[in-house]
Amino acid sequence: MEKLRAGAQKLGYRLTPEQLEQFSIYYQELVDWNQRLNLTRIIDYEEVQIKHFLDSLTVTLALKSSTASNHPRLLDVGTGAGFPGIPLKILLPHISLVLLEATAKKTTFLHHLKEKLGLHGIEIVVDRAEEVAHLEQYRERFDIVLSRGVASLPTLVELTLPFCTIDGQFIAQKKGGIEQEISQATKAISTLGGNSGKVEVIKIELEEFTNERYLAIIGKVSPTPAQYPRRPGLPAKRPIVRDGD
Ligand code: SAH
Repeated sequence: MEKLRAGAQKLGYRLTPEQLEQFSIYYQELVDWNQRLNLTRIIDYEEVQIKHFLDSLTVTLALKSSTASNHPRLLDVGTGAGFPGIPLKILLPHISLVLLEATAKKTTFLHHLKEKLGLHGIEIVVDRAEEVAHLEQYRERFDIVLSRGVASLPTLVELTLPFCTIDGQFIAQKKGGIEQEISQATKAISTLGGNSGKVEVIKIELEEFTNERYLAIIGKVSPTPAQYPRRPGLPAKRPIVRDGD
C-alpha cells in the first residue's frame, strides 16, 4: 500500500500500520468478490490504491475542520463497493457512516467487508435514495452527504440534498466539465434547499491523478419540500432543470 501511503501523506494523513493493513484486506476482498460480482473495472494493485482508495480520501479536503473533532453523521449515496465511504471510515474511525446502495448483491459485499475490517459505526442500507430520503430516520439527518459516480449533478442533488441537515453539506466527487454541470444544476439545487449561489469547487491537485478531479460542495440552507425526491427513476429521467419542473 505504498502508493496509498505516499498519497495520503500529501493530504496530511500518516496512515498507521493498522490502517494500511485494513486497506490491504479491502483490496484482497475487492478483487476476490469481483470475480463473482461486477463491483469495479479497476483491479490492478496500484490503480486501486490511487483511483479508489486515495481518490476517496481526497474528500477530506472538503470536510470542515469540525469534522475532525466532533462525531459527524455521514451518508454515502450509491456507494457501490464502498467508495468513498469505507476508505474515509478507515481513515477517520470516529465518523458515523451510513452506506446507501440500491443493488442488494453489492450490499452483501459491504456487510462482509465491514466484518473483515472490524469496522464499527457503519450502517448499510439497501434501497433507492428516492425511497430512503422520505423515511423520517434518514431525511435531513446527515451533516455530510457524499457521492461518487452516481449521476450528473441536476439528478444527483435530488438524491442527496434531502438527506442533509440545514447547514449540512453535500460533497460531490466529479471529473472534468464541473462548471457546466453546476450551472445546469442551479435550478435543482435551489428547489431542493441548497445554496445555488455559492457552490464551492475544490480542484484536486495531486500528481497521482492523470485526469482532472474536483469536489463540488453544496450547502443546505432551507428544508427540502416534501414532494422531493420524486418517485424512483424520475430524478434521472426528468432532472429539475427549468422553472415549473
Ligand atoms: N460510488 C461508487 C459506485 C459508483 S456506481 C464508486 O464511485 O465506485 C453507482 C452506484 O450507485 C451503483 O452501485 C448503483 O447501484 C448505485 N445507485 C444508482 N442510483 C441509485 C439510487 N437512486 N439509489 C441508491 N443507489 C443508487
